[in-house]
Amino acid sequence: MIIAVASGKGGTGKTTVSVNLALSLEKVQLVDCDVEEPNVHIFLKPKISETYPVKTVVPEIDKNKCTYCRKCSEICAYNALSVIKFGDDEKPSGEVIFFSHLCHGCEGCILLCPEEAIKRGEREIGLVRIGEKENIRFIEGKLNVSEVLAPKVIETAKSFIKKNIPTIIDAPPGTSCPVVASLDGADFCILVTEPTPFGLHDLEIAYEVTKVLKIPSGVVINKSEDDSLIEKFCQKNKIPILMKIPFDKKIAETYSKGISLVEAFPEYKEKFLNLFEKIKEQLK
Ligand code: SF4
Ligand code: SF4
Repeated sequence: MIIAVASGKGGTGKTTVSVNLALSLEKVQLVDCDVEEPNVHIFLKPKISETYPVKTVVPEIDKNKCTYCRKCSEICAYNALSVIKFGDDEKPSGEVIFFSHLCHGCEGCILLCPEEAIKRGEREIGLVRIGEKENIRFIEGKLNVSEVLAPKVIETAKSFIKKNIPTIIDAPPGTSCPVVASLDGADFCILVTEPTPFGLHDLEIAYEVTKVLKIPSGVVINKSEDDSLIEKFCQKNKIPILMKIPFDKKIAETYSKGISLVEAFPEYKEKFLNLFEKIKEQLK
């Protein structure tokens, strides 16, 4: 079973739910797909045993074969290639300028170059770390600073998931491509929100994403106080509210020290086990 934990915006408590749910289960793997800012490791403190680079394909131009026809720059949807041509067709000369950070590695230019002047090269854009902490197999994707291909790193991290162990995916915040890449293939999605107008707004968008992806979902309300806004929305859309975590200064203090909820307040283990049982009920 793969459970994704998502939220329409950052700072709602998504990682708190992912980490504490994992710490409460017997055997589980926890995948940090928030590759631009992975922070599960701060709370888990796992022992890392394996590291793999994540690479993307980049074009390598052979200047001896290139006729500066501009076909590659015309088909590149990401404007990663620019061709400058001097001279005439008899004796072409010029330059093909490659903007590596714009390239999405689609290989279109490699396929379409009429002179076969483009080879497949590689560029490192991030890494995947794998480790362990007691009952938890830990997988983390990390995108290098200034890179944009988060989905590639997420897909690579997810490729290390072992199918026979329950899996929790800590998705990035928001609703863009990295979130879709993280949720893809999940059996259930926990939507973490907080009971504010902003929280509701972002929950509505995140819920729409799960509907499009046809993933059943349920809500966890963090910083729970007056939850009427969220409760009304969930009632209207028949979304189960699976758990509430109270607005409590002591919880915020432990979070700021990098201590997990179940470590600081062991009674929460039962509550997270209960959350897992409710998800299993939803999937029956
Ligand atoms: S498509 Fe090939 S031949 Fe034409 S400019 Fe690009 S690399 Fe050169
Ligand atoms: S691989 Fe795709 S994105 Fe990269 S330069 Fe070629 S056409 Fe553009």
